[in-house]
Amino acid sequence: MTKLILGKDVSAEIYAELRERIEYLKSKNVTPGLAVVLVGDDPASQIYVRKKGEMCEELGMKSLIIRMPADTTQDELMAKVKELNEDPAIHGFLVQLPLPKGLDEDAVIEAIDPAKDVDCFHPSNLGRLMIGNPDFLPATPAGIHQMLLRSGIETDGKNVVVVGRSNIVGKPTAVLLLQKGMGMDSTVTVVHSHTKNLEDFTRRADILIVAIGKPRFITADMVKEGAVVIDVGTNRIEDPTSPNGGRLVGDVDFDNVKDKTSAITPVPGGVGPMTICMLMANAVKAAEKASGVKS
Ligand code: NDP
Repeated sequence: MTKLILGKDVSAEIYAELRERIEYLKSKNVTPGLAVVLVGDDPASQIYVRKKGEMCEELGMKSLIIRMPADTTQDELMAKVKELNEDPAIHGFLVQLPLPKGLDEDAVIEAIDPAKDVDCFHPSNLGRLMIGNPDFLPATPAGIHQMLLRSGIETDGKNVVVVGRSNIVGKPTAVLLLQKGMGMDSTVTVVHSHTKNLEDFTRRADILIVAIGKPRFITADMVKEGAVVIDVGTNRIEDPTSPNGGRLVGDVDFDNVKDKTSAITPVPGGVGPMTICMLMANAVKAAEKASGVKS
């Protein structure tokens, strides 16, 4: 029987734990504060930012959303980052990506105080992850790790194949599962658009993690019988039967792959809810570290 790994179930457990930590912080007069900077009016970014703010409020955290116009200059954005770095009521913040054309994302990320870098995009935080001594974990890879761990999926010594090598999903997921410890200790292979005979690698995966942004790219013949499949892809496709003319699908051909797997994440409802949950976890951790208050 295939097990469906649902982000809402796994995240509900983590939110319950976070609520207790937040209560404790508040009992010591520390309210975790998360700020999100949104530059421009990209519709998808607006939705993500709104959801982050709503989740902060639901958890009883302080939420600050800073909207800046699309014609914001690099200097103005850097000044905002500096202001947030210095604001003691803001324990963590992020600048929503992508930025409008002309703004230097790397420079902005590097200007964020690593102690407040709840997205874990700063090179120093990624370096700490690489050496196995992280302060924060990047949200989507951390969400995948928690899904595996809390679903009781053995990772120790397993062949994990990560499809995709982006800096926010593929590479950090591979590095995380390579670390020593619970829900890790895997033998990791990373494949990407230059990999020859990609299916030779995916077919050997005990755990296949896919993050490429190509609708239903992974078909049943590319998956080993009994594998665990984690689908990070979030792709909007046209669907005339849907009221708004479209729907979300993953990078995995879910309907045909599902029965071959021992466990699989659906899209939507799989990894998606985990990303925001792990961002909240980083914000709580940042508040605990800055205040020295930890339950
Ligand atoms: P990127 O576009 O940054 O990276 C895509 C990666 O996939 C690249 O490494 C690319 O290879 C690789 N790739 C593309 N086409 C192929 C192919 N045909 N065969 C093998 N590899 C391929 O994407 P992200 O990592 O940011 O995101 C991936 C997907 O995950 C997207 O659908 C995104 O929307 C989704 N996502 C979902 C999140 C969630 O919370 N559920 C969070 C973040 C992302 P190369 O490097 O060689 O170009």
